Amino acid sequence: MPEHAKLFSPSGAPRWTRCPGSAKACADYPRTSNAFADDGSALHSFAADMLNGKDPLGSVFVAGTGSYHCDEDSMDLLEEYVETVRAQVEEGDVLLVETRHDFMHLLPEETQAMITWPEAFGTVDAVVIKVAKKELQIHDLKTGRKEVSAEHNEQLTLYALAALEEHSLLYDIEKVTLHIHMPRKSNSSWELPWSDVHKDTFRYYMQDCLADDPAFIPGEIQCKWCDHKPNCKAIEEDILAEFMGNDDEDNLLLAEDPGESVAELPEDRLASLLNKAPMIKNWVEAVEKAAYSIAMDGATLSGFKLVQNRPGNSTWTDAKEVEAWLRAGRKAKRANMYKEALITPTQALKRAIVGPRNLAKMNAMIHRPPGKIVLVPESDKRDAYVLPDIASEFDNEE
Ligand code: SF4
Repeated sequence: MPEHAKLFSPSGAPRWTRCPGSAKACADYPRTSNAFADDGSALHSFAADMLNGKDPLGSVFVAGTGSYHCDEDSMDLLEEYVETVRAQVEEGDVLLVETRHDFMHLLPEETQAMITWPEAFGTVDAVVIKVAKKELQIHDLKTGRKEVSAEHNEQLTLYALAALEEHSLLYDIEKVTLHIHMPRKSNSSWELPWSDVHKDTFRYYMQDCLADDPAFIPGEIQCKWCDHKPNCKAIEEDILAEFMGNDDEDNLLLAEDPGESVAELPEDRLASLLNKAPMIKNWVEAVEKAAYSIAMDGATLSGFKLVQNRPGNSTWTDAKEVEAWLRAGRKAKRANMYKEALITPTQALKRAIVGPRNLAKMNAMIHRPPGKIVLVPESDKRDAYVLPDIASEFDNEE
């Protein structure tokens, strides 16, 4: 499993470039894992084997949350990424798989001396140096389902800066391209417009993080995955200020009926609260998670206790064994053992169970409720919903 930098991890760059205080504040939190992250690590390990010409089929990746087997489905999922990267490597080109690249050089030497550990590096999934074309390519595999763009991507830009520092002595590089491969979503590529501006920008951010009293700047992007969140005064104060408004009259925390007071807020205050809503929800979840964790460790939280919910639904431990047991010894009737369910409209259309002559009749029996109307930020890609003109409908009725 690749090592991770504590202070300046490239994947944490969206956080520490926006909130300098978070770099040192997060450095000593232990890295926690979950099944989702471990599944991603396993797929990265299988993909690295494939890129290195090994066949990982049947191999096992052991992680904190369990063992992950490389099966046909994993191979199918990774095939396009592996083939795309391989196709870039022509004769004389260089392919580096899962290699660590440092970017300590971005800091001035006197500042580097302040850091006692190599804390600015990342493991790049694949670097391709197209020697004849003088191009450096950074390839990053993302196995999640949340769309990520290569354009202006801080993590990949840091990888590129690190790789350039390491390889530009040996190779003449004039072009840098960043590539994100998402087998479960769409891929994305971007040519990094080349200039020293990136170096200077990151140097500035990193120096800010190392200041004696760095600023803590809350915001939706930086706070989302921040480990320090449940203990961070800055986000707490920022959220409380949002609820408190400018004076006592505006203060939702003092309102007798906060629900009613929110409904009466002017549109601009409501929009401001709505803007902060994702950050507030995320913070509340982090506080709940931290409180649950310490309660499970035996701590007492004033006014709270742990209870056990009703048990979940009963399921067979081994459905096949039960099926054989019921049919053999007990001679249970088939009708009592199985339930029949009508296929869905989508399945009926897919299986073409009625001919063209009856299709219209079947379509008339299909009900599809309209999508729910939701309020989203203006940046959402969908067209705005146009409200029906109720006044003119009323006029027509008259
Ligand atoms: S919670 Fe937000 S403000 Fe606090 S350290 Fe983390 S990123 Fe910075």
